[in-house]
Amino acid sequence: DSPESPPKIHRLSHSVVKRITAGDVIQNPLSAVKELIENSLDAHSTRINVIINDGGFKLIQVNDNGHGIRFEDLAIMCERHTTSKLLKFEELMRMKTMGFRGVALSSISHLGHVTVTTITQGNVHGYRVSYKDGAMEHEPKPCAAVKGTQIMVENLFCNMATSKKALQNSNGDYTKIVDLVSRFAIHHINVSFSCRKYKATRPDVHTNVTSSRLDVIRSVYGVAVASNLMEIEAADTSPSTSVFEMHGFMSNATYTAKKMTMIIFINDRLVEWSALKKVIEVVYTKKVHKASKPFVYISIVLPPGQIDVNMHATKKEVSILNQEAMIEQIKSMVESRLRSSDEAQSFEEQQ
Ligand code: ADP
Ligand code: MG
Repeated sequence: DSPESPPKIHRLSHSVVKRITAGDVIQNPLSAVKELIENSLDAHSTRINVIINDGGFKLIQVNDNGHGIRFEDLAIMCERHTTSKLLKFEELMRMKTMGFRGVALSSISHLGHVTVTTITQGNVHGYRVSYKDGAMEHEPKPCAAVKGTQIMVENLFCNMATSKKALQNSNGDYTKIVDLVSRFAIHHINVSFSCRKYKATRPDVHTNVTSSRLDVIRSVYGVAVASNLMEIEAADTSPSTSVFEMHGFMSNATYTAKKMTMIIFINDRLVEWSALKKVIEVVYTKKVHKASKPFVYISIVLPPGQIDVNMHATKKEVSILNQEAMIEQIKSMVESRLRSSDEAQSFEEQQ
């Protein structure tokens, strides 16, 4: 497939469906936004724009400039277990795409109203179609469209009990969405991201395509963060233990912040690797003023066979072979870098 031509969407076979981890993928507006952004990334987009109203409860709109969706596939696109990404279960071990289960759009269309506008390369017009409960509400209508896809989700969780909904804080949800877009933005520096509130004139996150990750971090997290970062690297290529490569940025001993920011990508997937996060946090607590929280961004590349992406339905937690050895190595690297930044600092103070 050329990156420009959309792959065909098909229904996963029963035997594959049985073997992939099931579970709720959409628990809140945040998880819907994450799934939509991952779809845009999977479609080779270089521009992803997010618009949010009422913390995502009223509206989530994601526009991308990816390869679009074929007209023939629109009818089944929101059905359960329809995907253009996975065919055979065995492929899961070398999945390059974020998605593979074909359940996100289906779930979203059961929880809210979905409208898709899309155009594929070589066509003069696009199509627009709305979905409810996995099915098209009408035939796709021809319409004007710019390159890529727009997915609009309205009234997510509108059927949710009001008592439960009252517990949700839409401002808090928006903050989390901005945070999520920021994380994607500093990892995928070959993609321009933005996130704004509906009808707001200025976005709360906006990045341009660049080759400097530090520039993106500066524009998203500010100068105070960027000017206190050290570039880090580690690798273990000995076949007896785990084979991995990592690079990233970590805050130095002088950096002070009230909130911890720890961003971990493994094979380009944004993951919660709690085991590693805890270890790094402890290292900082010991070395740096206790009240000051670190900023850490780590990107790890592993051979695909070493990570099980099928462990968790939301793909958030992953299981990693030989994770102890990797954690140990990253820990000692973080420790020694913190120590040397601390020494450099006290040296400066003596001068
Ligand atoms: P999955 O990502 O696991 O395949 P989803 O339910 O998220 O399942 O999406 C179903 C299918 O819809 C995808 O496999 C893809 O072919 C298509 N799709 C969804 N969003 C986009 C998009 N923004 N651009 C192009 N294709 C998309
Ligand atoms: Mg998906």
